[in-house]
Amino acid sequence: MNISILVFGGDNSLTKLPDQIRNASAFSVEAIGNLSQAVSRIQITPPDVILIQASSDDSMELCHWLKEQTKLSWIYCILLEDRPQVLALRSECGREWELEMASAALRQGADAYIWQLPKEKTDYLPPEKTANEQLLLAHLTVGLRKAQKYRDLLRTNDLLSAIALFDSLTEWNNRRALEWDLPRQIEKARSHETPLSLIILDVDHFKKVNDSYGHLVGDRVLQLLCHRLRHNLRFQDTPFRYGGEEFVIVLTNTNCDEALVVARRLNRVVGEEPFAINSQLTINVTISLGTACLQPEDDGNGISLLERADQHLLQAKAAGRNCAIGCSGYMFHLECSKSTAAHLRCPSMGNSRQ
Ligand code: GH3
Ligand code: MG
Ligand code: MG
Repeated sequence: MNISILVFGGDNSLTKLPDQIRNASAFSVEAIGNLSQAVSRIQITPPDVILIQASSDDSMELCHWLKEQTKLSWIYCILLEDRPQVLALRSECGREWELEMASAALRQGADAYIWQLPKEKTDYLPPEKTANEQLLLAHLTVGLRKAQKYRDLLRTNDLLSAIALFDSLTEWNNRRALEWDLPRQIEKARSHETPLSLIILDVDHFKKVNDSYGHLVGDRVLQLLCHRLRHNLRFQDTPFRYGGEEFVIVLTNTNCDEALVVARRLNRVVGEEPFAINSQLTINVTISLGTACLQPEDDGNGISLLERADQHLLQAKAAGRNCAIGCSGYMFHLECSKSTAAHLRCPSMGNSRQ
């Protein structure tokens, strides 16, 4: 792991400090003297530790800005007191004043406040490190520990969110993921003025599969079904396991007619070829599908959109299963294995054309 340190200020000798830390190759150091450059560098690639020289212009602004950024406040910020006039006062003003200076720096947003001894005092001391340098190195080590912990936490968070949003049987996203994703897709479709559709599908008579072959075979059918469906979708379409043997597929940039075309294709690819469970067992499965496309009056969470698709799914079941129903233009298009081209009036459009 590489720990990155950003030095804000003009003293280039500070960039050599990490060399003195054990395992120095684990550090990369960059020096920047300008506030706007530092801010954009931090926003683009946040460092793990920031070493700010108090003598540079805008040092306190940077400290303050950093701690205001919720997503960046974990960066360990060390303020190095190197202002000659402040250092000169140190011997006169005493311990109380030093503590006041330190607490003011911490209040401004620094995680640590360290005094730098004037150069002439330290020059004759090398190669031993001064107590100040040792303190600075100790703080860099704290920053390193914090960065490691933070990265571990990020990894754990990623893992937990993946578990929370993922269905392990089908390897599709789950219903919780749909509830998170659909409002965002709706917002995006509305702001880009692009159509958005979804399909709800349900396996026909799936209980019979379980009852005839057992739940493990039923599970395998669901896995194979999801695999086949995924292979027949575009990359940008997002499939979700809605619950049990019901699935939702969100189709971006897809209007009502296109959604129905996709639903019919999925209906065909599932029904036309049985699923091979093993060399001895193949099972025929069909699905019923309902589609709906986003309307201006739909709510932003996608509830009414889902409800409309679900109504169409129920109609597909009632019409004999193994078919897709959706609202296309003024008409429902019903294409069941039994009846090939029945057209029904679409009540949500409120017109009387037949
Ligand atoms: P319909 O055509 O009306 O949808 O009939 P169906 O039999 O598919 O519907 P029903 O709701 O009666 O049964 C659904 C079955 O799906 C019952 C349930 O045990 C089964 N099921 C749900 N989730 C799973 C799963 O993860 N694995 C297995 N093996 N079965 C599941
Ligand atoms: Mg079913
Ligand atoms: Mg069901």
